[in-house]
Amino acid sequence: MKEEISEYYRQKGYERLYVATNPEPRRVAVLYKSDKISVTMSYAKYLYTSTYCEDIDGSVYHIDHINGDKMDDRIENLQKITGRYNRAKDHEPREMTLCKCPVCGTEFLFPTRNLPFHPNPCCSRKCGGIKSHWKTNSTK
Ligand SMILES: [Zn+2]
Repeated sequence: MKEEISEYYRQKGYERLYVATNPEPRRVAVLYKSDKISVTMSYAKYLYTSTYCEDIDGSVYHIDHINGDKMDDRIENLQKITGRYNRAKDHEPREMTLCKCPVCGTEFLFPTRNLPFHPNPCCSRKCGGIKSHWKTNSTK
């Protein structure tokens, strides 16, 4: 989708802007200086740098979506943060539930969101094998 290029990038010599959506999904801005020279960046970064007329060192900073919605590219939802922090936020630890293994009694942590599919999980593959053996015995 072609969009009007910002004044900030027009002054840098870019002529055209295309906005694409990648599968994450996340919007990507492609800026063309001519038909042959192009620069690709996140649409969030494009908006932020255009609005504040400020270049951002991508190896140090990332533009973060404050509410976590990577398609919410409103300028008030964008903030400049260090890359390290951004990565930590993208990989938030999963919520875990303390379970007790029905085979050996060991307490262990199991991802809460997997519990509906594995209602009575075992601590290990080994115990899981023993438990499935119990199941086949009880159904006979
Ligand atoms: Zn066990």
